Amino acid sequence: MCIFISACNNIDTPLEKNNYNRITTHDELLDYIRDVSKTSAIFRLKIFEGKKIPLIFVSEDNFRDKNKLTVLLFAQQHGNEPAGKEALLLLLKEFARGGGRHLLANMNLLIFPSLNPYGNDNNTRRNDNDFDLNRNHLILSQAETKILHKLFSEYLPEAALDMHEYNPYGKDWLEYGFRKNFDVQLGTLTNPNISRKIIDLQKNEVIPYIKTSLNKQGFSFNEYILGGPPKIRRMRFSTIDIDDGRQSFGMLGTFSMILEGMNSLDQIQEINRRSKAQLAAVLAFLEYLSDNSALIKKIVLEERRNLSLNNNLRTAIRMEHTKLKDNLSLSLLSIKTGMDTTININNFHDSIAVKHFIMPPKGYLVSKSDSLLLDFLRNHSIHYQEIRNDIYGQIYKYIIIGKQLSIDEELENDFYKVEKVRINDVDNSLYYFVPTAQLYSHFLVTAFEPQSQIGLVQYDNYKLIVDGEYQILRVE
Ligand SMILES: [Zn+2]
Repeated sequence: MCIFISACNNIDTPLEKNNYNRITTHDELLDYIRDVSKTSAIFRLKIFEGKKIPLIFVSEDNFRDKNKLTVLLFAQQHGNEPAGKEALLLLLKEFARGGGRHLLANMNLLIFPSLNPYGNDNNTRRNDNDFDLNRNHLILSQAETKILHKLFSEYLPEAALDMHEYNPYGKDWLEYGFRKNFDVQLGTLTNPNISRKIIDLQKNEVIPYIKTSLNKQGFSFNEYILGGPPKIRRMRFSTIDIDDGRQSFGMLGTFSMILEGMNSLDQIQEINRRSKAQLAAVLAFLEYLSDNSALIKKIVLEERRNLSLNNNLRTAIRMEHTKLKDNLSLSLLSIKTGMDTTININNFHDSIAVKHFIMPPKGYLVSKSDSLLLDFLRNHSIHYQEIRNDIYGQIYKYIIIGKQLSIDEELENDFYKVEKVRINDVDNSLYYFVPTAQLYSHFLVTAFEPQSQIGLVQYDNYKLIVDGEYQILRVE
């Protein structure tokens, strides 16, 4: 600890002080960011009670200048993927030394260096409740994801980066004889409800920009793809689901991406290179945002305006990656020769086919006695209200008339057959109205429709089907 700034000259991160011999513990992380935050007025620190999750605000004007972008960086939802956290501590050091001021001229930062302190200290993917936090962004049942989403709804960052590590050493791949060997992969948004402008900008501008920047610094890079090895399983871009960090914010019109650094065979091996590669990728992402801040701001505000007016003609609720373009040439590392080898991947699924669209209603009616659903609305800061006398429209109920097991995006889900029935006898005092004309427009339709492959109906504890009737009503 240092009390006076003059005593804080050594602002090396714990990883550096430990000569890259061990990962920074959560207590060391807290001590470090307390010290760092005293070095400059650009820092403000908040530590959330309970799990002691730290958030560092970085801004030259205490977030007053609304023309600047607000950028959210969050790492280590998966505790056994520590390099993103170490990279964000290195980033804070960079700011503490006076670097990055050209970035702060165009943006303010919200930084969560570690969202899973338990997983960090125990080298586990999951948290202490045995939850995978990056599959918890729809139901928000965990304190860690609740904190992140509350903060999001308070500041509405225009851009976000979710930082992970991927493991290239799977048994299938080693048997296949080749493996991925990219220091960094970066994934775009994929859900087809998200503005094409945002996705195209990420694909056509950000991915090449970051590739060039990383290659110049000696790091290898590829757009994030998963699946494989070829011949055994298809390869595709990552999930369309809204229960992860990147996509849950993307559905709210956020310029949000996922970073996957290459993990190692054990926690500490290559940690120097792993954290430096992630630092280089974050800095390149911030440089891009800084250079294009006005454009990003404009596109995001336009998209959010469309969402809040419910200008969406339709919402995709069932979909699947599919093959549209040519094969993919992928550079993989030959395990036998240790050389990079270009492999032609036939079964690469590069685009999304929508299997079912739905017309968004004016809103939904949610029972006031359904405490789980009300928690869902509150945790996401979704607007809902009493039903007023100027009734909003015609009310419909879904009757469930059949169910089949479906597999989409490699995940089993229930696909219900439904019949929509008009009803007239709703007691207004028993329901809240949840309008779709809000930021959560597509998000709500995806979460609430009974035929959605990624909606709340897939979670048994929500008990949305009672005696063959779907409990959330539609107002059209
Ligand atoms: Zn991860």
